Amino acid sequence: MEGRTHVPVVDEALCGVCGVCRGACPALASPDLVEGESGTMRAVLAPQAIKSDQDLAPCREACPLGQDIGAYLACLANGDQAGALEVILRDNPLPSVLGQVCHHPCQQACFSATVQAPPSIRDLKRFAAQAPRPVPELPQGAPLAKVAVVGAGPAGLAAAWELARRGAKAVVYDAQAVAGGMLAWAIPDFRLPRQDLQRDLDYVAAHGVEFKLGQALTPEDVAALRKEYDAVILACGAPKAKKAGLPGEDLKGVWQGLDFLREAALDCPPQLTAPVVVVGGGNVALDAARLALRQGLPVTLAYRRDREQMPAYAEELEAAEAEGLKLIYRVQPVALEAGEGGAVAALSVQGTTPGQPAADGRVAFTPHPTDQRRLEAGSVILALGQKSEADAWAAGLGLFSLLGDAQGCLADGLYLAGDLQTGPATVVEAMAGGIKAARAIMEEVRS
Ligand SMILES: Cc1cc2nc3c(=O)[nH]c(=O)nc-3n(C[C@H](O)[C@H](O)[C@H](O)COP(=O)(O)OP(=O)(O)OC[C@H]3O[C@@H](n4cnc5c(N)ncnc54)[C@H](O)[C@@H]3O)c2cc1C
Repeated sequence: MEGRTHVPVVDEALCGVCGVCRGACPALASPDLVEGESGTMRAVLAPQAIKSDQDLAPCREACPLGQDIGAYLACLANGDQAGALEVILRDNPLPSVLGQVCHHPCQQACFSATVQAPPSIRDLKRFAAQAPRPVPELPQGAPLAKVAVVGAGPAGLAAAWELARRGAKAVVYDAQAVAGGMLAWAIPDFRLPRQDLQRDLDYVAAHGVEFKLGQALTPEDVAALRKEYDAVILACGAPKAKKAGLPGEDLKGVWQGLDFLREAALDCPPQLTAPVVVVGGGNVALDAARLALRQGLPVTLAYRRDREQMPAYAEELEAAEAEGLKLIYRVQPVALEAGEGGAVAALSVQGTTPGQPAADGRVAFTPHPTDQRRLEAGSVILALGQKSEADAWAAGLGLFSLLGDAQGCLADGLYLAGDLQTGPATVVEAMAGGIKAARAIMEEVRS
């Protein structure tokens, strides 16, 4: 649609190759608007229209990987699934993973989102990712550099892939016996089927990336790697649960959410006792609650704010409710009570009330002194946040802090990426950080 006239016009060259905006274009939806000066729909759409030929489509601009979404949707619209995957793989080595769990900022940014449901870009990526993977074309000759990557989560995997396709030898170390980071041991398989993760891991490995698993590296190990390799990327994530410091937090039957998910994924799911109470409002809380529901137990999730403030994805919350999750808002945990045999028997909570929005726009919820309640519990899962080991890494490496520059550079030949750099974020953001660090290293190598 042309944005600078009052007359909506479909221009084949400009109207988004994905064709998505055409569904909302007044020129097609209401042909009577094509003539004359009526600009009602235009008034909605024009301010968001692409301002110049140089501007990226908003979906592409919103994607941390800069995926050419319009191009791969156009391939799919033409029935070319393999072509769509080829476009996706230009910027993204984990299309099956992102087709399942990406938080899809592209969909929210789509022009059409204001007037209709935006296209299900993530689901379309999931479909495209099922096409056979092409054999990677790799640079020939001796490696231009040898780089160690510490952490085989999305940041480390994306970094290693980018390094490999730019002619470096990448060796990825990880403490766990499996690669994938939180994709393998935090996000449950009902949200990310492991065969999808494996397809992407195989694709990264097909680029000649080497994995050294089951090796928990110390800062001393990293110092040694810095002598052995041209560069080292730290991509160790934010794998620790933030403890709440509540009385009774170490009772039998009380779990930290991240530990519960890790055990469920890597060992066997810990057997919970009814009724189960989960505390928190983020991804960890929701995933733990949905995993607990799969043991056939009644599960209640207690959150200190309102539904609108929950950091968990709305679609996950809706799915959890459909599965039978009960939610209680405006309560915060105070203490855990022991019952017979020393196991947890109840969680005491205190009601909260919303105050004025703080500087960041977030409404602070403060405890209400007289509103005390007791929630009976056979098991309690506390999911009150995650943290990285940034301070320990900085101290161990003799650095003042773990704050890198825009490319993640900490010191000569030492980079960081992913959740370790940003704090807990998302898969696609971690990947973008890994790719950025890899590119900076290769630019350094070539200069
Ligand atoms: C329960 C849960 C659900 C989530 N759901 C989503 C979602 O739906 N969508 C989304 O976009 N994001 C989601 N996230 C966030 C996302 O998983 C993370 O942002 C992302 O995995 C961060 O990637 P990373 O590579 O930085 O770190 P990680 O994925 O944490 O990987 C870091 C790796 O480093 C390894 N490591 C750590 N220390 C060492 C050491 N000393 N030596 C060797 N290896 C080490 C770890 O074993 C790990 O494998 C979720 C997170 C959680 C916890």
